[in-house]
Amino acid sequence: MPDTPEKTATEKVVKTEAEWRAQLTPEQYHILREKGTERPYTGPLEFNFESGSYHCAGCGALLFASGAKYDSGCGWPAFMIPADSKAIDEHEDSSYGMRRVEVTCAKCGGHLGHVFPDGPRPTGLRYCINSASLTFTKAPE
Ligand code: FE
Repeated sequence: MPDTPEKTATEKVVKTEAEWRAQLTPEQYHILREKGTERPYTGPLEFNFESGSYHCAGCGALLFASGAKYDSGCGWPAFMIPADSKAIDEHEDSSYGMRRVEVTCAKCGGHLGHVFPDGPRPTGLRYCINSASLTFTKAPE
C-alpha cells in the first residue's frame, strides 16, 4: 500500500519506559513520560524568539513553528497554534482539582503541556508547553 500523508501523520513511536529513560534526561523523562511540569520561568525556550521550528524532545516530530510563538508572560513557552493539527492530541485533564486540556505529542504520546482558551487572536488559544518537551531548530539564515 502506498504511504499516504494520513498514514505518515499517525505513525506512532512506541518505546518501553526503560528505553525512554535511557534516551531522555531525567527532567525530560519526568515531564514527557510522567506528565511533570517544569518550574515557571526556568525553561531555556520561553524567551527564544528566533526563527525556526520546535520539535518533540522525545521523537523529533515537528510541533510548532516560531511564527506561532508569543510572549504570554505565563512562565512557559506559549504558542497560538500547532504546526499541524495532527501533530498534537488533546485530552481532558482533571488532575490537581483543575479542569484543563492536556496536550501530548501525537507521534510518541509524550506530555507537552496544556492548552488554555486565553490566547491572542486569531486563535484565542494558548498552548502552554514545557521547554523540556521541546527542541528548537534554528531556521537557515
Ligand atoms: Fe513526540
